[in-house]
Amino acid sequence: MRYISTRGQVSPIGFTDAILMGLADDGGLLVPEHIPQVSDATLKQWQRLTYPELALEVFSLYMNDEIPREDLKKLVDDSYSTFRHEDVTPLRRLDDGRYVLELFHGPTFAFKDIALQFLGNLYSYVSRKTNSIIHILGATSGDTGASAIEGVRGKEGIRICILHPHQKVSKVQELQMTTVDDVNVLNLAVEGTFDDCQRIIKELFADVSFKHQYHLRAINSINIARILAQTVYYFYAYFQIANAGHKINFSIPTGNFGDIFAGYLAQRMGLPIHKLILATNENNILARFVNEGVYQPGNFRGTYSPSMDIQVASNFERYLFYLYGEDADTITSLMTQFKAEGRIVITEDALKQVQADFSAYSVKNEDCLNTISEYYEKYDYLLDPHTACGAAASDKLAESDEVTVVLATAHPAKFDEAIRLLKISQSYPRQIEELFDKLQIQTVVSGISEEIKEQLVKFF
Ligand SMILES: *Cc1c(COP(=O)(O)O)cnc(C)c1O
Repeated sequence: MRYISTRGQVSPIGFTDAILMGLADDGGLLVPEHIPQVSDATLKQWQRLTYPELALEVFSLYMNDEIPREDLKKLVDDSYSTFRHEDVTPLRRLDDGRYVLELFHGPTFAFKDIALQFLGNLYSYVSRKTNSIIHILGATSGDTGASAIEGVRGKEGIRICILHPHQKVSKVQELQMTTVDDVNVLNLAVEGTFDDCQRIIKELFADVSFKHQYHLRAINSINIARILAQTVYYFYAYFQIANAGHKINFSIPTGNFGDIFAGYLAQRMGLPIHKLILATNENNILARFVNEGVYQPGNFRGTYSPSMDIQVASNFERYLFYLYGEDADTITSLMTQFKAEGRIVITEDALKQVQADFSAYSVKNEDCLNTISEYYEKYDYLLDPHTACGAAASDKLAESDEVTVVLATAHPAKFDEAIRLLKISQSYPRQIEELFDKLQIQTVVSGISEEIKEQLVKFF
């Protein structure tokens, strides 16, 4: 299996090179040269597997034998042994038509752990095999940073620096990042916004000699390894309810289009998912795209589900690539048009295909809170605000003869600021409670790239 760019200007590369490259050198995104097909017979066999066994089978399809099977098995086992639940991603039944797939049992209580525990171990493995140093640099609005740090803390050959906007992440998110005392972790709290952090990262990665001298690597959600890791739980959840013979939907709280793209990939591999429901909050560029065929950023809205407060979805180009029959020239001109005009308008025919692939709904801030209350009363189940968007969209779009699995992307304790508004009091899990007594280690910096560069040089 080799990987190519959605813009066609990168010669095909192997899996390891693809994860190290992150963003493709031509500005596109890396995709597998072909999508592996899983037969009905194989799907039947996979039904009996545990989560790590299933992950091993799925990953094997995407890397041939570039990583020997026994090494890959160890990587997978190590990545999911840190989860607090024996099923890794347990499925909860609320009623006949509603299930919640809990993706938050990893170390930082958000679904990002499923991919970043694996990516951290993978980077560490590559570093050992190639005897090279890996320096990870990333920006976060909260969940990704905590999860990426947890994925590589204390690992040899790897250092990680995460920028977050000073005092603009939730308290639990800040503590999860800054109470880590391993020497290979540097937290820079930037006096500015998340956009400032992203701009700095972009500037540093654009400085090619700096990037090469310090072996800088990215961890953002465009990394293909993150997508592959997320396809696994679609299979895993599907198998648990498939035997009843219902049509099975997934409803996905969406921001950067990474998680839902993983579902689309699982479907293209042969998993007979009925509907992929794309749920957004009021930052609804993707819901507008699915319903109207226009991809155009709107005004930024701060919401109760901040990890979905995204205007330009970084993984979206991957879907466009498949929508336009894997034609890199079309994608290149669409993205050039997007850069110049600030929007993409697709044809009627293309829109028909989009609407066959996805159903979409944009959830109002108030409806998000109302959904949390409603589910709490009706099912005695506490949703976090991101998951609540998925539940609200599914209630709108699923038919009565369908079963919908809502992806629960975070534990409610991470977003207690919103839950408290509903006068619901929750008890924190012990691991989160303990964070409040730990010493915080972080350096507050201005939003000037040069100052950050100096900090990095000292750290590396
Ligand atoms: C990152 C995140 C999302 C959005 O996932 P995408 O892959 O960016 O679409 C949703 N919910 C939570 C809690 C997240 O951390």
